[in-house]
Amino acid sequence: MKCPYCGSLETRVVDSRYSEDMEAIRRRRECQSCGKRFTTYERVEIAPIIVIKKNGEKEEFDPEKVRKGMLKACEKRPISDEDIDIAVQEIERALRNRDSIEVSSMEIGEMVMEKLRAMDKVAYIRFASVYREFEDVETFEKEIKKLMEKYGGR
Ligand SMILES: [Zn+2]
Repeated sequence: MKCPYCGSLETRVVDSRYSEDMEAIRRRRECQSCGKRFTTYERVEIAPIIVIKKNGEKEEFDPEKVRKGMLKACEKRPISDEDIDIAVQEIERALRNRDSIEVSSMEIGEMVMEKLRAMDKVAYIRFASVYREFEDVETFEKEIKKLMEKYGGR
């Protein structure tokens, strides 16, 4: 969103909330160049799901991102694109049926892992390894251990 004061494209959303009639999202934005703040209203056809990222930034939920992540994890695995589409739809539906319009990116990650775990062990480990990369090694090892116990591997 272009800054109305200096024209910079480098703006940051500092607050995001529904308007009173629930038909728009009111965003407070701050220009990264001149530091001035302004408000934008986003009208929507369906209420968006707001994802809170690990760094605290908010963005609209994008099912395409989830789909791409799952596709990558399922590469060369016996999982059809259709299976992935269904899983993404189920995740989106579950998100829409929550009480809150906000969800943390971590919760979405957990939901994806849950789906992959049921679909394909290898895809699950791949996704988990990438997803946990920014957490800690211990968590990842625990996940692997849990898997190995479950499937009786070493
Ligand atoms: Zn500006």
